[in-house]
Amino acid sequence: MGAGESGIGAALLGKQQGYDVFVSDAGIISDLHLSELTAHNISFEQGSHDEARVLAADEVMKSPGIPEKNALVQKIRARGIPIISEIEMAHRFKGESKVIAITGSNGKTTTTSLVYHICKTGGLDCALVGNIGYSFARQVAIDPKPWYVVEVSSFQLDDIHQFRPDIAILTNITEDHLDRYDYIFQHYINSKFSITRNQLKEDVFIYCADDDVTMQNITNYPIQSTLLPFTMSKQLPDGAYITNAQLHLKWRQEEMSMSINDFKLKGKHNQYNSMAASLAAVAADIKKESVREALTTFQSLEHRMEPVVTIKGVEFINDSKATNVNSTWYALESMEKPVILILGGVDKGNDYEPLKALVKEKVKAIVCMGKDNRKIHEAFGNIVELMVNTESTQEAVRSAFHFASKGDVVLLSPACASFDLFSNYEDRGNQFKQAVKAL
Ligand code: ADP
Repeated sequence: MGAGESGIGAALLGKQQGYDVFVSDAGIISDLHLSELTAHNISFEQGSHDEARVLAADEVMKSPGIPEKNALVQKIRARGIPIISEIEMAHRFKGESKVIAITGSNGKTTTTSLVYHICKTGGLDCALVGNIGYSFARQVAIDPKPWYVVEVSSFQLDDIHQFRPDIAILTNITEDHLDRYDYIFQHYINSKFSITRNQLKEDVFIYCADDDVTMQNITNYPIQSTLLPFTMSKQLPDGAYITNAQLHLKWRQEEMSMSINDFKLKGKHNQYNSMAASLAAVAADIKKESVREALTTFQSLEHRMEPVVTIKGVEFINDSKATNVNSTWYALESMEKPVILILGGVDKGNDYEPLKALVKEKVKAIVCMGKDNRKIHEAFGNIVELMVNTESTQEAVRSAFHFASKGDVVLLSPACASFDLFSNYEDRGNQFKQAVKAL
């Protein structure tokens, strides 16, 4: 069910493995995916589900985007037909290959890309799959590798049965996607921790010892794997920690330290991501020299604290991917110059309270970019003198530049989803970059 990247990947893998595959999508299938289905002789439907045909299946691979409350999903459950996620399918056919899986509320894509970069620098033959590049299943079907570095969402974890990462990372847990978890935070937490469910003693679980939700819950699950924490608050016998601006990594015989000022990725959140990624790499037997080299060469990802350009001494940063308050907090935390902050969009029930202290300390002006900016005005009206409403990136960028002086930063880190004015966060980030370059 569902013919996006994960559905098509699972279909290709299923077909290759001799399954009788039928792809059903209630929406419109993209031309690219249609041509792949046709080329591989895979039967499909689009625009609606043929219930009888779907309910005749032995097993259903459900796309992560389809919620549990979907009427057909409920019927499939009622019939007792097993539902699996695409990573489960990929795992079933990956053979002896090893898996590094990364989940968490924030930092998944960054950490996954960083793990991949370190592993490649260390000469490991691996593939980066999940959110960036191929789905895991597609990679297994068309270009199998000895190692897979997989970004995993909670929705993907919801329908695993045997999926067992050799190395798992949980970056952190904050409230997110609660609409998919009956508005019960614990259900979402359980989903995140299920990354450890099938792990064995020889596997490794890497987690943030400074994350309250992780620490409050970790003892509630019978985790078999070796625990490798990372932290900024204490020294550890095994794991990663940062004290006095030095990263320390300790795992079995390996011990390494380096200055965090040498990290290519800036900001406190990225120091956490760097600790997590380095631990995973070391657990995959990557040598510390390669870890060190990779941390100093990693290029930041598009739309995540991405430097755009400096104009007349004003630096522009695109953090369009910051779609919640927590992400914007980390973006502001990492700022070392006065900030003109572009904020706003679709508010998913934001509580701006945690941002207030940082805004007071670092933000000169707020440029609201959204259709309804009332909550932002309520939250920051008394803290920031300069505030203006805008409804497009051109307007927002021009206003921000107007407020800025030499030595300031204009930061797009909206803390909101983008669907009021843009098709997605990439569109928002791209339009921002265009508007900046047009100044
Ligand atoms: P995800 O894939 O989980 O959505 P990304 O790596 O794409 O995460 O980062 C999205 C945004 O989240 C970044 O722009 C950054 O502002 C913020 N972020 C990244 N890493 C962390 C972290 N470890 N903790 C909190 N926020 C983070």
